[in-house]
Amino acid sequence: MTTMLLASGAAKATTPKIDDFKYSVDKFADIEILRYRVPDFEKLSLKQKELVYYLNEAALEGRDILYDQNNKYNLCVRRTLEAVYVNYNGNRKTTDFQNLATYLKRVWMGNGIHHHYSEDKFVPEFSSTYFAEAVKTIDPAKLPLSNGETVDALINKLTPILFDPTVYPKKTNQAEGVDLIKTSANNYYGDNVSQAEVEAFYGKMKKPNDKEPVSFGMNSKLVKENGVLVEKTYKVGGLYSSAIIKIIGWLEKAATVTENDQQKDVINTLIDFYRTGNLKTYDRYSIKWVEDLASDVDFVNGFTETYGDPLGLKASWESIVDFKNMEATKRTEIISSNAQWFEYHSPIDPRFKKEKVKGVSAKVITVAMLAGDCYPATPIGINLPNADWIRHEYGSKSVTIENITEAYDQASLGNGFDEEFMWSDVERKRAKDFGSMTNNLHTDLHECLGHGSGKLLQGVDPDALKAYGSTIEEARADLFGLYYMGDPKMVELGLLPDKDAYKAEYYSYIMNGLMTQLTRIQPDKNIEEAHMRNRQLIAAWVYEKGKADNVIEMVKRNGETFVKVNRYEKLRVLFGQLLAEIQRIKSTGDFEGGKKLVETYGVKVDNSLHNEVLARYKKLNLAPYRGFVNPVYKLVENSEGEIKDITISYDENFVDQNLRYSKDYSNLPTFN
Ligand code: ZN
Repeated sequence: MTTMLLASGAAKATTPKIDDFKYSVDKFADIEILRYRVPDFEKLSLKQKELVYYLNEAALEGRDILYDQNNKYNLCVRRTLEAVYVNYNGNRKTTDFQNLATYLKRVWMGNGIHHHYSEDKFVPEFSSTYFAEAVKTIDPAKLPLSNGETVDALINKLTPILFDPTVYPKKTNQAEGVDLIKTSANNYYGDNVSQAEVEAFYGKMKKPNDKEPVSFGMNSKLVKENGVLVEKTYKVGGLYSSAIIKIIGWLEKAATVTENDQQKDVINTLIDFYRTGNLKTYDRYSIKWVEDLASDVDFVNGFTETYGDPLGLKASWESIVDFKNMEATKRTEIISSNAQWFEYHSPIDPRFKKEKVKGVSAKVITVAMLAGDCYPATPIGINLPNADWIRHEYGSKSVTIENITEAYDQASLGNGFDEEFMWSDVERKRAKDFGSMTNNLHTDLHECLGHGSGKLLQGVDPDALKAYGSTIEEARADLFGLYYMGDPKMVELGLLPDKDAYKAEYYSYIMNGLMTQLTRIQPDKNIEEAHMRNRQLIAAWVYEKGKADNVIEMVKRNGETFVKVNRYEKLRVLFGQLLAEIQRIKSTGDFEGGKKLVETYGVKVDNSLHNEVLARYKKLNLAPYRGFVNPVYKLVENSEGEIKDITISYDENFVDQNLRYSKDYSNLPTFN
């Protein structure tokens, strides 16, 4: 919660509350949809509002790209189900129809047929017979039939995609010992392309002494044509051209209302990249973007994160539009201006420290629009660009999205979670007093300092950790934050009001990592997602290493398991030791070491504890995952067509929003 973020002397957020703002919008399957407020949008200048508006439109135009990247049938599935949902004239009150509606909502939430978090294909709760019957009642002109295809053929094509659990079971497969490319359902690689072929193809492109390596493969699909591997680049005239042209159209308008010339240059360079697909241009854009610190309005728009590719090469399309939260940014400025102190005092081998921490810019932002891989599920912090050499030479831009955290916190008040899982009133009181504050601070430290700290030894391949790279990198950033949370420097800098406040974050981090994050895992499944692996890795490692000193206990009370932290100072020491080891793995590119840590601590789940946690969680009747709807922005024009204002409203629901997006921003063919 923003109002209690900071101690005396530091910034306090002064966000006015909108009376009776209803955060929770919808609930289905394991998902709750929230809305978020955009405080102070009204205070932007008209020109800034216009800029936000155009960037918002550019964000929404890319929506179909992510669906197609996630799986090549996703647009066909979505369009077929939407056609049924909108046009069905049968009984809409039956369980079958309701289950079809729920399935469609899950497709919107996952941007496709796989769960956004577990990455497993979800199972419809209606039959294939019902599906076929329902589709047959729809006017064929409204269905996504491809040239000359019959309705029966469409149904036959989609039935295994929806109903056969062995077809495309996993979006991004991280399991050991199989071909990760062939067993992943995403659409970054063509049929019959193997992991070994991908590794050889991109391995050859890397030059050993390249000081400015581009992100090979980031913006293309790798396919086999007549037995030869070729890249199909995402650009104007290439793959996803029709959506990219629309994005460019709005970016061009945005470039006419920028806050300054540098921002205009950033946008124009991005346009240039979208036109050419040239990765050198992308790096030039990233550098200009990271150096633009003067603008209040900012954005991410492009092929950005590589979590969706098991080899971490291909980037999914995403966009956010945001502006600076002036008050809360004072907090991250304190952190950034002390970046060198933190780097110097970090408990890692001096060989892996940066002599000079460059341009760790950090700010707290208010997000105005979420799109692509940031919608409906969204991160609460972002740190970009991803290219290691740019981060090293030019620094990175790090943001904490406070209006999203605020929505999470507000929607969780009094939901019974802490009462069920925390050990005692001591932990609960600390969570109430300091939970939001320390959680925000941990995010700041993770983003502003953690990812930007440390360096690779000369000659170490940044991709050396392969499939374990994301987990190790997230663990590194988390540990950096955890280690410093407990440092007296936090109170000294006015970032925490009390020397014991950090214990709130330590306790909730360990409880989450050892226990409660298992609420997000299906029975009998292991942990796949990088952030979750990293959290369990850290919690399980410190638990084991601290056993002799009784640092953390797992205690049974009335047959229920609780986490008890006995020695917080010692816990901090363990965080420091693990940080040193993780940094060593990263800096030296120790693949075997990284693999061993992740596989030993981060992946496997204790089945009986897992079942217990799921049963206790079920009683609370909460949704383990949350997504968001965006506000609606409208241009207000006078009779001459001059823009007079841009208004914001919060009343659109999840279904209406997605149907509107599908109608207004349907930019790609059903198959690409
Ligand atoms: Zn991170």
